[in-house]
Amino acid sequence: MLNIDKETFKSDYIQKFIEIHGKDLEEGTDYNKYEALASLIRDYVAKMWIDTNKRYKENKSKQVYYFSMEFLLGRLLGSNLLNLGINDLCREGLNELGIDLTKLEYLEEDQGLGNGGLGRLAACFLDSMASLGISGHGCGIRYKHGFFNQKIINFSQVEVPDDWLKRGNLWEIKKSDKARIVKFGGEVKVEYIDGNLKFHHVNYEKVQAVPYDMPIVGYKNNVVNTLRLWSAEPLSNEFDFSSFNRGDFKKAMEYKDSVEAISQVLYPDDSFYEGKLLRLKQEYFFVSAGIQSIIHHFKSTGGNIKELDEKIAIHMNDTHPTLAVPELMRILVDEEGIGWDNAWRMTNNIMSYTNHTILAEALEKWPVDMFKKLLPRIFMIIQEIDRRFCEGLRNKYPGQWDKINKMQIINGGFVKMANLAIVGSHSVNGVAKLHTEILKKQEMSDFYYCYPNKFNNKTNGITHRRWLMIANPQLTELLKKTIGDSFITHPTDMINFQKFAKDSGVQEELKRIKNRNKKKLADYIYKVQGIRVDEESMFDVQVKRLHAYKRQTLNCIRIMDLYNRLLDNPNLDIVPRTFIFAGKSAPGYYLAKDIITLINTVANKINNDNRVNKKIKVVFMENYRVSLAETIIPAADLSEQISTTTKEASGTSNMKFMMNGAVTIATLDGANVEIRDEVGDDNIVIFGLTEREVLNYYKNGGYNSQKLINNDDRIKKIINSLIDGTYSKDTNKFKSIYQNLVTYNDEFFVIKDFYSYLEAQKKVDDLYRNTSRWQEMCAVNIAHSGIFSSDRTIKEYATGIWGSKCMYENLQ
Ligand SMILES: *Cc1c(COP(=O)(O)O)cnc(C)c1O
Repeated sequence: MLNIDKETFKSDYIQKFIEIHGKDLEEGTDYNKYEALASLIRDYVAKMWIDTNKRYKENKSKQVYYFSMEFLLGRLLGSNLLNLGINDLCREGLNELGIDLTKLEYLEEDQGLGNGGLGRLAACFLDSMASLGISGHGCGIRYKHGFFNQKIINFSQVEVPDDWLKRGNLWEIKKSDKARIVKFGGEVKVEYIDGNLKFHHVNYEKVQAVPYDMPIVGYKNNVVNTLRLWSAEPLSNEFDFSSFNRGDFKKAMEYKDSVEAISQVLYPDDSFYEGKLLRLKQEYFFVSAGIQSIIHHFKSTGGNIKELDEKIAIHMNDTHPTLAVPELMRILVDEEGIGWDNAWRMTNNIMSYTNHTILAEALEKWPVDMFKKLLPRIFMIIQEIDRRFCEGLRNKYPGQWDKINKMQIINGGFVKMANLAIVGSHSVNGVAKLHTEILKKQEMSDFYYCYPNKFNNKTNGITHRRWLMIANPQLTELLKKTIGDSFITHPTDMINFQKFAKDSGVQEELKRIKNRNKKKLADYIYKVQGIRVDEESMFDVQVKRLHAYKRQTLNCIRIMDLYNRLLDNPNLDIVPRTFIFAGKSAPGYYLAKDIITLINTVANKINNDNRVNKKIKVVFMENYRVSLAETIIPAADLSEQISTTTKEASGTSNMKFMMNGAVTIATLDGANVEIRDEVGDDNIVIFGLTEREVLNYYKNGGYNSQKLINNDDRIKKIINSLIDGTYSKDTNKFKSIYQNLVTYNDEFFVIKDFYSYLEAQKKVDDLYRNTSRWQEMCAVNIAHSGIFSSDRTIKEYATGIWGSKCMYENLQ
């Protein structure tokens, strides 16, 4: 914990301001003031960072490296102040200088280097690893452009590049001296030396990987871990840029562009894979640089390479970093001269893998021709891994060719990344109980029967420091006041709040806090979208990536149905609601983009219809991202977690909402099941098909959406309104959605679950009308949310997978 007093902080701050801006504080813009504060905080962190690294070196503690294509950090000023323990001190100190800290915090750009849940999970994990004193570091890509910014123009999504670095990134430190070379293309020459095969990679293109390090500050424990993000930069000696020869100059520029392209932009697809060459380059680029730097660091600090697997663990967040397996083999075998069997044993001990989805369209596989050409040596290594693996399979399953083909790593002209990740790791985990069970008995059953001990569950979590303490300071205060502050370091202590669930004073206080957060959100909505919403209405919220399986369509058609009912009966007795949506669609995912257009179109119609807009309003908030989530979630009354059962691996926004005292309406999917188990059926509203029913339909058929629609006038009316001019004169506008539900038999059971969903919503209305009952539910949800802190998740990873120690307990 940083030991400074307010006066020291104030004078440090003024000093810093003058130093970096060369003018007085009074002459500075707000952004200047933000810059000075962030720079000062970085200085404060720097010493702790050096000390942490020294300690890790002296203790020779096992180092964990979390490899991820995405880190969705959001803003860092607030979390760094909180974790350093100087939040209040800074706020007061700045206040005395006439500066509003909150205002400065809002000036920071989100670090949007991720798509959604997977990238946010990586960010929560970094926070928990540091806060638990685990020597765990992140490794990823420093994209010049993160996830695009979303604008809604004419009711539709328009993508604008995210230029998050335009004013610099005050948290990073470029480490040019730690750059690595990553090799692409070329050929492999094989040579026999003393009876051993030697492999020489020649004629390759060199790409320089330059690391930018960011400090990851632990909560009041003097720990600062490192997030290392790699940037692709041309090597100045590869081409002579000063050459006057036009041909060379053109070639040099081409080389420069092709190198910089590697870390230029994050692919904006979530749970979807595109077999693009550039993506494969990105994947190998950061993995190769990361592993080279880990081994270099290990050796330079006196480590014996034969003990590497006792001293490091590498975790793969989904299959995107799977090339870490053959890359580590390449370095151990080709560069360190270790025999294959030993190298393989060590690699297996080091690597572990998290599966994030069972959607078929998300499974990465690379065409062999593309792969071989880009990464010739890595391809050979994968072939050898596959050859040995299949040899084992043939002994184990003689004659069972179908099974063996399915498990093979290189098969049907593709390199299958999940197969390689499973074979190369000692641990494979799913992200919620239900998801892990489905992996074991369906999607990966062959591998499960082959290696039952590799498979395990680690239910996702969220850092309560950001999602409760920063996002909802007033609720945090109420918890401190009622149950003390032990929940901050032991989040499961939040269970002590349960005994206040029926306390009328606490219930009123909960309501007051929610209302304040709702007012803040309502003001924000008015400011940025010009829509006035009723602060007294129920805030009914669905915020997440746009995806057919997440079923924003189901939410939208019940609003269309409610609108119809209100027009039929203006006195319809319902609880007034504000329906809030936010979420980005992948730019090439046309159905999802059409759903955004539909929601905005419906919103426009309802909000401008005086017959209904006192009772219901619909808001689609632009540009969903971490900082917006922090504003929306604490203001939600109702959390919509309505994915088709079996499709959402875990979900994490479900956890953020419950921690902030929202009630959940949900299918029994992903971690919703565990939330239900925690809070009990009385404190969550469940609807929809069960896992067994869904799996049965997928396996045996028997669902016919057209028949359901044709036999039901109420549903027919809504579905027809998509194409009959009710919402758009252009009757083709929502035809894709119509066809999806009608012609293509509603793959995600939107129609099938419709009435079950309406019934659940009716139940929500009834519960909400009973204020005391509702507040009790909110309190119970808060009390049971501690188990979904990522601190719990990370302890499970540390003890169950990485074999690393937490320093946390003895630091208390
Ligand atoms: C938590 C979070 C997500 C994940 O939301 P789900 O509803 O679990 O899919 C996505 N994006 C952002 C910005 C988040 O904070």
